[in-house]
Amino acid sequence: MAKITVKTPIVEMDGDEMARVMWQRIKEQLILPYLDVDIKYYDLAVTNRDATDDQVTVDAAKATLEYGVGVKCATITPNEDRVKEFHLKREWPSPNGTIRSIMDGTVFRRPITMQNIPPAVRAWKRPITIARHAFGDIYRDQELVVSQPGKVELVYTPQDGAPQRLVVNDFQGGGVAMGMFNLDSSIQSFARACFTYAIGEKVNVWFNTKDTISKKYHARFRDIFQAEADARKAVLDAAGITYSYYLIDDAVAQVMKSEGGQLWACMNYDGDVMSDMVAAGFGSLGLMSSVLVNPDGKYEYEAAHGTVTRHFRRHQRGEETSTNSVASIFAWTGAIGKRGELDGTPEVTAFARRLEEAVVETIEGGVMTRDLLALTTTENPRGVDTWTFLNAVAETLQEKMK
Ligand code: NAP
Ligand code: MG
Repeated sequence: MAKITVKTPIVEMDGDEMARVMWQRIKEQLILPYLDVDIKYYDLAVTNRDATDDQVTVDAAKATLEYGVGVKCATITPNEDRVKEFHLKREWPSPNGTIRSIMDGTVFRRPITMQNIPPAVRAWKRPITIARHAFGDIYRDQELVVSQPGKVELVYTPQDGAPQRLVVNDFQGGGVAMGMFNLDSSIQSFARACFTYAIGEKVNVWFNTKDTISKKYHARFRDIFQAEADARKAVLDAAGITYSYYLIDDAVAQVMKSEGGQLWACMNYDGDVMSDMVAAGFGSLGLMSSVLVNPDGKYEYEAAHGTVTRHFRRHQRGEETSTNSVASIFAWTGAIGKRGELDGTPEVTAFARRLEEAVVETIEGGVMTRDLLALTTTENPRGVDTWTFLNAVAETLQEKMK
């Protein structure tokens, strides 16, 4: 069979540990036999980031902006122990953080669902995508512990004007205080990325804050989202996409009763918490995919999980592993599918969907990695090792591509 040609290059970012070992196999066994694709390869292994003083991460992010679609393997974010382990020059920053700030992107996390892996919440019939505004609020705050009576004030000194002061609290005893901020430009980018994603995926958008209590800070988020929704009203209407605004507590209750299928956009802290709840509700980390979308519609796909160090140690000792490769495969299919869409090459997108079907059919047929055994409704499922699972997917795909 002739290979399918991918018109525009795809940027590939390699990673670390177990995720890297699986990555290589996915590429060799499931992608390259079928696609003729120009891959712009960047090795983001922690040792190579160190050797290049992290320049490779910056180059990869820029290449993703240039070509429009990238796919990334999970990478180590070094801490003190990792610096010792790999003799690194320093604790390099999180590659995902670097890429996110260069691309000015928003992360969308979406569970991969199957018939025989039901969500914990019975009402959920379709995947819920979570978007977290990963900038500002308490993640960039200033905090202080008040140890004796005294006044804490918020002071704003405009470039040309008199300072404005607000008393936060006049302390009579000990306590705590914090100051935090966000930027119109960042909230706007977030809202734009959300609508770009929703229009691409044809999903409804939910957004929520606590504007009944925070009448200025949270209300600003609400108003910016509303303005972005209004600016696209015709496009959203034409695509049949609705925008709904809720109070955060109402949204949480509504989500539990909903059938799913929406894009749930959240402020930073809400998204941090709710994304873990949604991930747990849908099952394994190995079934959670993730895509970084920038406001201009550039995409970087990855699995939501890390490098799966514990499994890698077993792999290094020559022991058997059963690591779930589904989210990594879906990172590839996400990127390939999007590339086909942007290039106007439906055969490329169709291949991505075939590969996804092969994964789902394999698991629905009862063959799965062992993390899924506790979640499946299949009687007598076959829990297999990492490589047996990939072989089973490859066989299913081969049949489908005949
Ligand atoms: P992790 O790699 O996500 O693994 C945590 C645990 O979750 C695993 O030990 C495993 O549990 C389970 N798990 C995760 N993915 C799985 C999969 N595909 N199949 C089966 N089980 C899976 O998180 P971590 O151990 O906290 O972090 C390891 C390294 O990854 C760190 O160096 C961190 O910096 C990096 N990291 C990278 C990214 C990224 O690049 N996006 C994200 C998060 C973490 P059991 O051991 O119980 O089986
Ligand atoms: Mg969290």
